Amino acid sequence: MYDIVIVGAGTAGLTAAIYARRAAKKVLVLEAKSYGGQIINTPDIENYPAFDHISGFDFATKLYKQAESLGAEIEFEKVESIEDNGDEKKVKTDENTYTCKTVILANGSENRKLGLSNEEELVGRGVSYCATCDGAFYKGKIVAVNGGGNTALEDALYLSGIVKKVYLIHRRDEFRGHETVVDELGKRDNVEFVLNSTITKLNADKKLESVEVMDNDGNKREIAVDGLFVAIGRVPENENFAKLINLDDKGYIVAGEDCHTNVPGIFVAGDSRTKDVRQLVTAASDGAVAAEEAVKFINEKRG
Ligand code: NAP
Repeated sequence: MYDIVIVGAGTAGLTAAIYARRAAKKVLVLEAKSYGGQIINTPDIENYPAFDHISGFDFATKLYKQAESLGAEIEFEKVESIEDNGDEKKVKTDENTYTCKTVILANGSENRKLGLSNEEELVGRGVSYCATCDGAFYKGKIVAVNGGGNTALEDALYLSGIVKKVYLIHRRDEFRGHETVVDELGKRDNVEFVLNSTITKLNADKKLESVEVMDNDGNKREIAVDGLFVAIGRVPENENFAKLINLDDKGYIVAGEDCHTNVPGIFVAGDSRTKDVRQLVTAASDGAVAAEEAVKFINEKRG
C-alpha cells in the first residue's frame, strides 16, 4: 500500500512528491498526460524566486527529475475515480487500482475553449492552445492570440519573435496580465492590439483562413490569419471526484490554505483548488503544504 498517491505531475504534484519522499513516505504520482502541467508550455518564466529566466520545459524537467531521483514512483495513467474507505483509499486509473493511506489531488486544469462550432476540427489546422508547441509552424506568417492574461501576453511576445505579425485580441481594453509584458508588446512593430473584441467566427476551408471579431459596439471585422492561439484561461477538471469531494460552483475543489478537502486523508494542491492566486510559486507552495499535511495525517494514525 502507498502512503500517498498524488494525482498530477505538475508543479504542485511534483513538489508534493519531493516533500513526501523527504519524509520517507512511499509515494506514487499518477499523470494522465505528460509531466509538467501548465507551466511546461510557458516560453520564459521570469517570476520564480531565484530564476531570472528559465523555460517552462526546463523548469518542469528539473522538477520531474528531482522527484524521481528522490524515489517517487511516477506512472502515466489517467485517474478515473477515488474510493474512500476511511484508512484505506482506492485510486482507480484506466489501467490499475492502487490502495493508499492518503491522496493529494494536484490535477490542475485544462485550456478553456472558445466554444465555436468548428473550433475542435481546426485544432492542428490553424487553431492551437500552445504557442511554444506550435509557434514554429507559423514562421513568417500572420497569427492571432486571444486572451488578456499572462499566458496570452507571453504567447504574443514569444510569437512576435517568430512570425510576421501578431494580432492580440482581448475582450476588454485593459489586460489582466503583467504590465511589463504589455509595455514590451507595445514596443514591438509587429504586434497589433485588437481590444474590446471577441472572436465570433472561425473562417476556414481546409484550414483556418481568418477570424471574425466583434467589438463591444457590435461592429464586426474579419482578420486574415494563418493561425490562432487561444489563451483565454483554464477550467478545472474535477468531475471525476465530484461525488466524493466538495466542489465550488465553478468546479474547483473547496479547500483553504491547509489544502484539506472535506474528506479526511484527501488533500488538494495547486490550480484545482479554490484560491485567489494561481501562480507557479503558489502551486509549489501548495505541494509542500499538502504533503506535510498528508504526512501528519499518516503519522497521527500510526500513533
Ligand atoms: P487568466 O489569467 O484567467 O486570463 C484569461 C484571459 O482570457 C482573461 O484576460 C480573460 O478576460 C480572457 N477570457 C476568459 N474567458 C474568455 C472568453 N470566453 N472569451 C474571450 N476571452 C476570455 O488565464 P491565463 O492567462 O491562462 O493564466 C492562468 C494563471 O496562470 C494566472 O494566474 C496567470 O497569472 C498565471 N500565469 C503566470 C505566468 C507567469 O507568471 N509567468 C505565465 C502564465 C500564466 P478578462 O480579463 O476580461 O477576464
